[in-house]
Amino acid sequence: MDAEQIWQDMLSILEVEVNTLGFDVWIKPLRPLGIEDGILVLVSPTSASKSEVVSRYMPLLKGALRRVDGAPSELTLISEDERDRYSPRESEPKKTEKAAPVSSSHASNINPKYNFENFVVGGCNKLAHAAAQAVAENPGTLYNPLFIYGGVGLGKTHIMHAIGNAVRMSMSNLKIVYVSSKTFINEFIDSIRTAKGANQDFRDKYRGVDLLMIDDVQFISKKPSTQEEIFHTFEELQNAGKQMVFASDCPPQEIPDLDARVKSRFASSLVVDIQPPDLETRIAILQHKSQEAKTNIPANVLEYIAENVSSNIREMEGVLTKVIFLAKLSESRVDMDICKQALGDYRVQTCEEITADEIIDYTCKYFNIAKADVVGKKKNKEIVEARQIAMYLIYDMLSLPMISVGQFFGGKEHTTVLHARDRVVAAMANDEKTRTAVGDIKAMILRK
Ligand code: ADP
Ligand code: MG
Repeated sequence: MDAEQIWQDMLSILEVEVNTLGFDVWIKPLRPLGIEDGILVLVSPTSASKSEVVSRYMPLLKGALRRVDGAPSELTLISEDERDRYSPRESEPKKTEKAAPVSSSHASNINPKYNFENFVVGGCNKLAHAAAQAVAENPGTLYNPLFIYGGVGLGKTHIMHAIGNAVRMSMSNLKIVYVSSKTFINEFIDSIRTAKGANQDFRDKYRGVDLLMIDDVQFISKKPSTQEEIFHTFEELQNAGKQMVFASDCPPQEIPDLDARVKSRFASSLVVDIQPPDLETRIAILQHKSQEAKTNIPANVLEYIAENVSSNIREMEGVLTKVIFLAKLSESRVDMDICKQALGDYRVQTCEEITADEIIDYTCKYFNIAKADVVGKKKNKEIVEARQIAMYLIYDMLSLPMISVGQFFGGKEHTTVLHARDRVVAAMANDEKTRTAVGDIKAMILRK
């Protein structure tokens, strides 16, 4: 993915999150310069606008970046006059994968970077790892399908590619397809557009494989025809004894608007979760990553990063990348000072130290409603609106399971939280008021 593409995806996310004025004045004028050492470099027209954007929008920019598939985990903002200092190369030579015909073998989709050898196993992912290895050794037999779920950046995609790589090595004749559900949806829609009913190439591609892995299946929510296609693909592959692996950010029963047949198929899979890693696992992961990057980073620096970034491995890697980047920029060795500088940037941008209670407090403050009402049972329109926004923000910013979010509101059911999330997402798409409220509250929390 090149910088321009990533930026376009970020803009479509930010357009919803930032109010129109802010979006036009501050966000739109930014330009992607390129990707350097795994960091997306954005340019703002003047140094004054740069500092405005940094103080107002950095958290939202980072948040948007994190949600773009295949994007680097870090970004930095420079002003036009600092541009000479940078000479970013595009991250990768242009690939031709877009032009590949639908029927081509997709084993090439498997990223060799992610394998079992460089997947660090800890209590948090032991089960998922064991199941994945069993699947890779004997695809289509014991654990079929396998359904892996867990929060963002905890290794679901890594594990899927590891299965693909292992199968490719030991059973090179097997046909392997890995897709994100977004690609699946888009190809399906294209295939309907070009033929009446899903076109044969599309069906052949997905139903004629030995190992089918669909990532981020939560996105098929509210896509009935795609769900139907997945259901039939499912039936056909299962009858033929072919292996399927799915990954999602929540368990099957929490994926909203999912066809009952698909839901029950998912639920009858072997469902395994991945939890956030404990400190030891985090340190082990950082050691692995710094060896891979062939940099010599002192143990105390790695420990410090692991202690301070706990919820998301991708973010932890982002901080490590930044440490290496800063060391290179200042032509010095990696030391604690540089580490603290990188982490200082990180702190303002993440939800690390935010609690659900704080999110509720800020939401109450914004709407001027008593906390007891927001977490209570009253059904007045204003209170319900505030309650739903608080639920949405807790779910969105802290990546908590819906059932836990409900606990902060007097033990509400996860379906209530689900409903709240859907309402807020729909409202943000349709009305400026909700959009502004969510954006403002989020900014208040991140700036606290
Ligand atoms: P998810 O798909 O769950 O959002 P990813 O699989 O993309 O997360 O993982 C995010 C990053 O963290 C990747 O660079 C991946 O290599 C790394 N990662 C996650 N879990 C592990 C692990 N157990 N060992 C090593 N690296 C990991
Ligand atoms: Mg993923």
